[in-house]
Amino acid sequence: LAWLTRARIALSGADGGPDVGTTVAPVALMVRHFFTVDVEEYFHASVFERVAPQASWRSMESRVDVGVNRLLELLAQHNATATFFVLGWLACRRPDMVRAIASAGHEIASHGWAHQRVTGMDARAFRNDIRRARNSLQDICGASVDGYRAPSFSITRGNDWALDVLIEEGHTYDSSLVPVARPGYGYRGGSDGVHWLRRVAGSLLEVPPATLSLCGVRLPAGGGAYFRLLPLGLAQRAFRSYEARGVPGTFYLHPWELDPGQPRLAVPWWTRMRHYGGIPATEQRLREFMREFRFTSISNGQVLS
Ligand SMILES: [Zn+2]
Repeated sequence: LAWLTRARIALSGADGGPDVGTTVAPVALMVRHFFTVDVEEYFHASVFERVAPQASWRSMESRVDVGVNRLLELLAQHNATATFFVLGWLACRRPDMVRAIASAGHEIASHGWAHQRVTGMDARAFRNDIRRARNSLQDICGASVDGYRAPSFSITRGNDWALDVLIEEGHTYDSSLVPVARPGYGYRGGSDGVHWLRRVAGSLLEVPPATLSLCGVRLPAGGGAYFRLLPLGLAQRAFRSYEARGVPGTFYLHPWELDPGQPRLAVPWWTRMRHYGGIPATEQRLREFMREFRFTSISNGQVLS
């Protein structure tokens, strides 16, 4: 993380540590935003935790290659790299896939082990989950795994202790804090750009998913269902706004969002709409988005001059 080291030096105060909440300073005109992927199967999404419990995962059809291969092709076509937050459970079954992603020049980071929301774990269970995932990913790709993203962005005000556990377990950055205020979701009052968090356990770089401020209200606009279901113009407006500030925005997607042929699981109609809506058009939408903006992985992040 050469750019992180530079940012740390640039932001160091008299005591040698970064300032809390300080946004990493822009240094030039053309921004490379962060492209991130949460690598999991179509049945891992938290909305399916009842219809597809962990005990059933082994017997379910694997579809992850469909989306991962599309993403690798799209990234190569646009001369972009990305950070892939890989679920540990999946990595252990598909070490070949993890190595293929890494050998294409992309960063491997951690999405935890078993896709349990942090809000449903205590510190001990969380530590076991992230340690198992990071150790497995490092063994598979033979490189340090620095970053973490919580399933369903589930680090909220009240379970901030997870940030200390991440530092204690060797992570240098997190990408889980959505700076919006919603009941049971979001990190109220969090910064919308890359910034430092100073915790009891040390410092952690936070790379929040992109948001857009509209009429004084901050809305998620960084990817996933928001990218599939809302007008593309909202995501474009959000990333243009980051660009105008000279700082990177963070985009995210899942492999299953590029797989129209995935099996449909039995969930209520509103969950079906939110989860499957827009999938057939997502690839075309993504192509248009990638034509306008430039992307790189978090570990490779820098601002071009
Ligand atoms: Zn996930």
